[in-house]
Amino acid sequence: MSDEIREIESKVAPPTINCPNCESMLPHELGEITCVVCSAISRIDHKPTRDNWIDEKVSCPNCPKILRVGVDERPCALRCSGCETVFKITPSIVKVEVSCPSCERQLRIRPRPGRRRLDCPACSESFHVTF
Ligand SMILES: [Zn+2]
Ligand SMILES: [Zn+2]
Ligand SMILES: [Zn+2]
Repeated sequence: MSDEIREIESKVAPPTINCPNCESMLPHELGEITCVVCSAISRIDHKPTRDNWIDEKVSCPNCPKILRVGVDERPCALRCSGCETVFKITPSIVKVEVSCPSCERQLRIRPRPGRRRLDCPACSESFHVTF
């Protein structure tokens, strides 16, 4: 028996919302969100995401049981009704595809607000993306 809490990544992500102040992408969260670019605070809520979070089904990491999460926030803790294992549902990691302007290869990246430099693994060109 290990007492390490296992984590399962949620499949449900909140929508992409841009900061009303500076148009940068906000983190994929709900609630009071601070823009990492301009520090403006926005109150973001999205009922369909909350409903999908409540209804999301995950399989227990320890037994074959499928569980309905039943909680409208991420991260959250869940106890398996079959084997009593407690585990954590972590927020979904949103990825987007951008194409390299030089060789057009699609890169799957985790968007972070603001401007950042990417190095294409195929042609080693560097380019900037802004979210
Ligand atoms: Zn902003
Ligand atoms: Zn279980
Ligand atoms: Zn490239």
